[in-house]
Amino acid sequence: MTTAGTTAGTTALITNIGSLVTNDPSAGDGPLGLLKNAAVVIEGERIAWVGPAAGAPAADTAYDADGRAVIPGFVDSHSHLVFAGDRTEEFNARMSGRPYSAGGIRTTVAATRAATDADLEANLTRYLREALRQGTTTFETKSGYGLTVEDEARALRIASAHTDEVTYLGAHIVPPDYADDPAAYVALVTGDMLEACAPHARWIDVFCEKGAFDGDQARTILTAGKARGLHPRIHANQLSYGPGVQLAVELDAASADHCTHLTDEDVDALANSQTVATLLPGAEFSTRAEWPNARRLLDAGATVALSTDCNPGSSFTSSVPFCIALAVRDMGMTPDEAVWSATAGGAAALRRGDVGRVAPGAYADLALLDAPSHVHLAYRPGVPLVSGVWRRGVREA
Ligand SMILES: [Zn+2]
Repeated sequence: MTTAGTTAGTTALITNIGSLVTNDPSAGDGPLGLLKNAAVVIEGERIAWVGPAAGAPAADTAYDADGRAVIPGFVDSHSHLVFAGDRTEEFNARMSGRPYSAGGIRTTVAATRAATDADLEANLTRYLREALRQGTTTFETKSGYGLTVEDEARALRIASAHTDEVTYLGAHIVPPDYADDPAAYVALVTGDMLEACAPHARWIDVFCEKGAFDGDQARTILTAGKARGLHPRIHANQLSYGPGVQLAVELDAASADHCTHLTDEDVDALANSQTVATLLPGAEFSTRAEWPNARRLLDAGATVALSTDCNPGSSFTSSVPFCIALAVRDMGMTPDEAVWSATAGGAAALRRGDVGRVAPGAYADLALLDAPSHVHLAYRPGVPLVSGVWRRGVREA
């Protein structure tokens, strides 16, 4: 058999899949729609057929999965990958218990403003390749390290060449040049900066937190974005209790991201809304912070996504499998729930029905594991189990 991969109009069969996660409950067992001894047929960039290997139709090319597991490619719905610079010293100081007074996000803002377009794009594509090798086939990424009209717009322009899921985060922090007049910065974010950024973005985001933007500022910013055709998502309740989650639900944000400090009312609001709770355990890992309680959200009926938050300051991992392992070990998720949240959950957080599942009509985005089951993603933490990736029907890794 040869390596399967497709060009327009051709078909490829992946067969002898020991265990296939479809996320289509009508196709197999449980919420994961698990199928044993399965096959998938790809036509062009879409899935054309899913079912038992014994009943698979013929195709132009074929690949033998040799009993290994296949899952939908990961949907990483939260990252910050348009940046320059390095914050190794900050991380090293934090993990060594030493004080460190340099400027956190501001350090990255200064380096990003100083970088060329080519440098920013090279850095972005490097991390995208890294993520792809680890099974990520859909990713969202944000601006937020430019914080001027020109620097935010160029970050989004560069990102939009690589993904449709681009988020305008001019409201990441109030930049030092506006420290004395945050209201003027909010006016810029909702005025000239929004005008320059909206053509390159699908989403608008705010870091709603003490020391960043309060609930009223966040409402003003997200409402302006909605009026300009962008859809909201919010960095909410990460470092402290606050209004972010309630605001996310009020504005029908696709996602409230972090959700580490939640009241019972916050959990109820999420459970009774279309807003996904996106948990980002790489941030808690990298800052030795309290874990978000996924079990509490799931038991209440909220939809949970798992994502990397890949960024150079607080979560410098592009590995969704690592986040799955953390979520199972420390956040009360079962392995099945964590895999669902990192695939179908991420798709829900981006309001996408064409990724995060293996079903006819969906994009042919698949990860082959060097393991008999998706459970190994949590059972074998830190082991590079992703041994093959198809993105839009093309074998990429
Ligand atoms: Zn973030």
